[in-house]
Amino acid sequence: MTSASVAVIGGGVIGASAAYHLAARGWRDVLLLDRGAGPGEGSTGRATGGFRAQYATPINVRLSLLSREKLGCFEAETGVDPGYQAAGYLWLAANASELATLRAGQAVQHAEGLHEAVEVGCGDIARLNPALRLDEVAGGVYCPTDGFIRPLQMLQGYLDACRRLGVRIEWGVEVLGLSRRADGTIAAIQTSRGPVGVGAAVNAAGAWAAVVAGWAGWELPVVALRRQVAVTAPSDLLPHTMPMTIYAGDGFHLRVRDGRVLLLWPTPGVPGHPYDVRVEPEWIAAVTAKAHARVPVLRRASIDSAACWGGLYEVSPDKHAVLGPVPGCNNLFLVNGSSGHGVMHAPALGQLLAEIMSDGTAKTLDPTPLRPSRFVEGDLNPVPELL
Ligand SMILES: Cc1cc2nc3c(=O)[nH]c(=O)nc-3n(C[C@H](O)[C@H](O)[C@H](O)COP(=O)(O)OP(=O)(O)OC[C@H]3O[C@@H](n4cnc5c(N)ncnc54)[C@H](O)[C@@H]3O)c2cc1C
Repeated sequence: MTSASVAVIGGGVIGASAAYHLAARGWRDVLLLDRGAGPGEGSTGRATGGFRAQYATPINVRLSLLSREKLGCFEAETGVDPGYQAAGYLWLAANASELATLRAGQAVQHAEGLHEAVEVGCGDIARLNPALRLDEVAGGVYCPTDGFIRPLQMLQGYLDACRRLGVRIEWGVEVLGLSRRADGTIAAIQTSRGPVGVGAAVNAAGAWAAVVAGWAGWELPVVALRRQVAVTAPSDLLPHTMPMTIYAGDGFHLRVRDGRVLLLWPTPGVPGHPYDVRVEPEWIAAVTAKAHARVPVLRRASIDSAACWGGLYEVSPDKHAVLGPVPGCNNLFLVNGSSGHGVMHAPALGQLLAEIMSDGTAKTLDPTPLRPSRFVEGDLNPVPELL
């Protein structure tokens, strides 16, 4: 039987960040496994690449600020440009109640040091994004240091840095189960290439994380949720510097990437088929109608059906990440449930996980709100209403 000091299950951006940060802290014999044929076959390759620190809870703001700091030295650390572009995030409220929720989130952000996040009136909004129709907009919030990142470049950076530090990376290997000792700890992982003896394992299986946790007897409440993306044909109707623009009421948002406009609007997945990522023509028609009503210039853009795609969020009950050892199986570590924020938080989560696994706790910031046991304790983070 082959062996590893630690096996990271899942080679998306979070698993790669975890493996890199472990190796950088001196862990040797780290093994990163993914059943995909190569990088980016999971959610990381489907992400649109938004980055924001405008969240409504202190822990999410802190994760973003730590990630932003790490993005600043990402290229020096890994050799790859993470593509951070401070184009801003502009949230729009349709009425006083939505605006009050955005303001409450901003109070949390200011308390955490995100002072550049500001409230904006319709005049500011017209300046920040002149393409918008404003008759249904009551106001909004804006943060200029939010913006964009390149998910696949971040994944590549961590994989390159992993290789330089001696991490073994194996594609096309499916993890099929775990062998546990009488005390509940993991002795080995079962894979499609045979068993691997391990000192510890990391569950970085994204939208499939509940399956892995289940092998250790832990019911991890992380579910897959489809997100669809409508993509226009290339055009210069909107500038690439346009901020990510989000309608707080229904979550419709848009951005420009590589000369195309991406349109998103969260809807439920396919009932009974949580891993189905098909893009539905009716959804494309509905999101396009929203875009035409709110951003009239897009009436001149055509949707490129072949370029539209679907992918999976990995959603926890309080829409916050799950980080730390599994209760009752203390050498299986979870870094799951980022609920659609996993690329932007990957730098922070990888570092915090490595601290927890090396020192028993994270010192850079207090990860208590993310502990796995919060679900059984009934001590969930406040579920964000809009942010
Ligand atoms: C449409 C869309 C837009 C998004 N936009 C953003 C955004 O703007 N900003 C942002 O931060 N996030 C965004 N996300 C969310 C982001 O993609 C995820 O949060 C993030 O990629 C999670 O990273 P991960 O490494 O945990 O998951 P993944 O990238 O899915 O990696 C998990 C890996 O585990 C592997 N795996 C699973 N089970 C096994 C097994 N048994 N054996 C071996 N391998 C296994 C899979 O093959 C997969 O590669 C978006 C997601 C979607 C779908």
